[in-house]
Amino acid sequence: MQGKGVNERTLVLVKPDAIQRGLVGQIIQRFERKGLKLAGMKMMSLDDVVLREHYSHIADKPFFGGVAEFMKSSPVVVMCWEGLEVVDAVRRVTGITKAREAEAGSIRGDFAMSVACNVIHASDTVDNAADELKRFFETGELFSYDKSEYMHVYVEDERA
Ligand code: ADP
Repeated sequence: MQGKGVNERTLVLVKPDAIQRGLVGQIIQRFERKGLKLAGMKMMSLDDVVLREHYSHIADKPFFGGVAEFMKSSPVVVMCWEGLEVVDAVRRVTGITKAREAEAGSIRGDFAMSVACNVIHASDTVDNAADELKRFFETGELFSYDKSEYMHVYVEDERA
């Protein structure tokens, strides 16, 4: 599911705080206006099995139980975004974990104050993005298509 060049893909989860606060549209708009291509999107509820896998790197932290409860408190919106070096680009647009210190202009910097309720998840490496996309999407739920605006988003060398 992971491509190279402009076909690189990353996973974004719109977290329950953003669902409750009605921020889904504004979050999608941030990625659209950046020039990224939406390759897949759906709403789903997360359970303990998927959360233990997804958050295995924080499973031994004292706050893990709270994070799991928060992530189950409402459905999430799962998105796959595509573009050149998109994993890094989306992390920059996302901002740092502690939202009240995140850079103004980033999604967390503009929409959140908490270290836990920080609006979205974004994959942190290309390898993790590949694993996370497999975790949250079936192959048939991700779409490849031409985006006509690419000639205005990238120069020819970048699209090659
Ligand atoms: P990021 O989401 O920025 O990649 P991490 O992978 O370190 O951050 O943590 C995963 C998620 O766990 C965070 O997005 C946040 O929701 C939660 N979290 C991280 N650190 C804390 C903390 N100190 N207290 C409460 N929740 C936290």
